[in-house]
Amino acid sequence: MDPIGVGTPNVENFTSYINRLAITHKITVSSLLQCLIKEERGNNSSFNIPHLNSFYRNNSTALNGVSSKSNIFLTAFSNQVCKNNLSSLTLVPWSSVLPQHNLIRRMKGYCPFCYEYLKKNNIEIYDLLLWSFSSLTICPVHKTKLQFNCTYHDCGKVQYNLDTCSRPGYCNKCHRWLGNDFADLKRDEEVMINLDFQVWAADQIGKIISETNKLKSLPRRENIMIALNILKNKYFNDSIPNISEFFNIPIASIRFWCEGRWIPNIEALLIICYRMQISLLDLLKYGILTKESECVFHIENQNVDYKRRDFKKAIIDENKLRTDLQNILDSNEIPPPPLTAVAKRLGISVRTIQKRLPDLSRQISKKRFEYRKLEKTKRQEQFYKEIKAAVIQITNDGLYPNILRISDYISKSPLVFYEFESLKVWREIMAELSLEPKIEK
Ligand SMILES: [Zn+2]
Ligand SMILES: [Zn+2]
Repeated sequence: MDPIGVGTPNVENFTSYINRLAITHKITVSSLLQCLIKEERGNNSSFNIPHLNSFYRNNSTALNGVSSKSNIFLTAFSNQVCKNNLSSLTLVPWSSVLPQHNLIRRMKGYCPFCYEYLKKNNIEIYDLLLWSFSSLTICPVHKTKLQFNCTYHDCGKVQYNLDTCSRPGYCNKCHRWLGNDFADLKRDEEVMINLDFQVWAADQIGKIISETNKLKSLPRRENIMIALNILKNKYFNDSIPNISEFFNIPIASIRFWCEGRWIPNIEALLIICYRMQISLLDLLKYGILTKESECVFHIENQNVDYKRRDFKKAIIDENKLRTDLQNILDSNEIPPPPLTAVAKRLGISVRTIQKRLPDLSRQISKKRFEYRKLEKTKRQEQFYKEIKAAVIQITNDGLYPNILRISDYISKSPLVFYEFESLKVWREIMAELSLEPKIEK
């Protein structure tokens, strides 16, 4: 049985192939896997799945990604089931440049309109590898949200890529058809907000998965480091903080990526490539920056011509930022937040806020500073009172009020006394009570 769509963005995923294989042999997915496990254990004693049900829920989607499970299953399939090289249905050939974190989602994503399209055109129903990516939440063809649950209200069960009797296009629990006529679509406003980025990201991922079967070897891991260093030198004045601010990604992460100690996850890579309008495929495969050309999914009526300088202006709405900062400044929040906390809350870097609205930034910092100054004065007054009360008490007990004895009386730790301020306070109190400070042996 041949896998569908190899060498195209619409390639099927490995779990879809497993489902279709079970259907072709008129057995359930569970029976197929049980046979496979029994046969393969002769070759590889570690190949075992004791609990298929929890495997479906927790690990089945991972077979489409870069995990070690994908590799074990690919080997088992090539040993037991078919001669076809099925690695193009997973991301294993990209495992050197795509970290597992946030790559593949745990449940199955699907587009009801794509299912309906396949059915109407007499094409075998299958699940696309594209639907497995955590970063993608829309179908780039229909520009609608991917579904993760059964769409029937009386069922609504979460779908997994493999299940006891799973079958592409049908609910794993109630077994009803999940396709839907595109004419019935009600547009969801929420989808429109992020649509440009999502369609673009799907296009980039589509180009990567179309290329999988042409890869001769794993892409070099250093490619990402090389490309990011070119980016840093060419567009960011060789400055890591500049990159960090522009993409709103922590400085430490960028530094580690540029030094080649870590590789970024696909979400960060997509954001970087989107904002620079460069090809993710060329970055991963060759470590070079190339301007992105044509989109395979044809973005209709979408203006995707983002120039770098326009984009920066577009993403920060200065009026909104001003209102947000003014609201924080006018609020009675105790303690008043420092600028770092404000920046975090608004999802913008401190430097950007300071650069855009220096006056309001200063006022926010000043409010925080004055509050802390006042709090410090209050604490000192309290401290002074406590020491004075302790000195009087100890003297009345007929003892000399040395620092150790006072420490027993007050709420603060003895260490506080070794601070300059405390000794000064103690001397003042001693003078006030006409006692002579002395060092006891
Ligand atoms: Zn679709
Ligand atoms: Zn259902």
